[in-house]
Amino acid sequence: VRALELRDGELTSILAPLPGAPDHCLIRVRLAGICGTDLQLLSGYADFAGVPGHEFVGTVERTPPEAESWLGARVVGEINIACGDCARCRSGARSHCPSRRVLGIRGASGAFAEYVALPAGNLHQVPDALDDETAVFVEPVAAACRILEQVPDVGARTVAVLGDGRLGLLIAQVLRGTRTSVTLLGRHATKLDLARRLGLDARLPRPDDAGVFEVVVDATGRPAGFTDALRLVQPRGTLILKSTCAGETALSLAQVAVDEVTIVGSRCGPFERALEMLSSGVVDVRPLLSGVFPLGAFDEAFAAARGGIKVLLRP
Ligand SMILES: [Zn+2]
Ligand SMILES: [Zn+2]
Repeated sequence: VRALELRDGELTSILAPLPGAPDHCLIRVRLAGICGTDLQLLSGYADFAGVPGHEFVGTVERTPPEAESWLGARVVGEINIACGDCARCRSGARSHCPSRRVLGIRGASGAFAEYVALPAGNLHQVPDALDDETAVFVEPVAAACRILEQVPDVGARTVAVLGDGRLGLLIAQVLRGTRTSVTLLGRHATKLDLARRLGLDARLPRPDDAGVFEVVVDATGRPAGFTDALRLVQPRGTLILKSTCAGETALSLAQVAVDEVTIVGSRCGPFERALEMLSSGVVDVRPLLSGVFPLGAFDEAFAAARGGIKVLLRP
């Protein structure tokens, strides 16, 4: 099957064997999304070699006998493939299973391909009312919803989301759904305009933002974003880290201690909640779509993803 392969920082189009194991469902990819993490993988994050891509919507075409009810279903899939058996898996923290593979990020062939494979337990059926172009956003919206699980009182606090890219625009919409006051701070005029069209309070950062917000989410995707975010947070505030970057950052841990800042790392989130948010329209993803490319045009697609917001591949 046709797939994109990442090796030594270069993407090429290859003919790959069908992915997956006998106990996995085989899913024909209808659409796949390019995310900041994919751009980071290209610059060396996670040392990944193989087929990238972890945001997709597809149709189940083959299943193991015990999962036949999934045949023909239009699905999205959770990206952590856990052992299901270790102490962490049994405690419910499957996304932290030490022997996990992660679709298109760690040890598992991803969705920038005609087919992708996942265990049936990872799949979620997409309601008919959600079109493919919306459903392909379930994975990143779920990641945004993870904040609601980790900081349950976020709706009662003043929040700044730092970063006006794909993830920042989703996080700001998810948090607005809690009725909290959310300010989206970014540096790109066109993206801030788009955010305002989505009804968000969005603007350039100002010097007087320092130390103002009770909760700050770093969604910049840049190593320096952490330091910028720390500057905005109030004493006793909470800093949520959503960026996964290649490279490291120097920062003042003294300020974390003196200001008693709580730091929360945040990754994958609940798919059911994301499906609800997209179905109810709390999160509107249509304006974030900046292009759909065939798999073969991956060079243009990745170039567009660097400058634009959400770029999709249609295998
Ligand atoms: Zn992603
Ligand atoms: Zn496990």
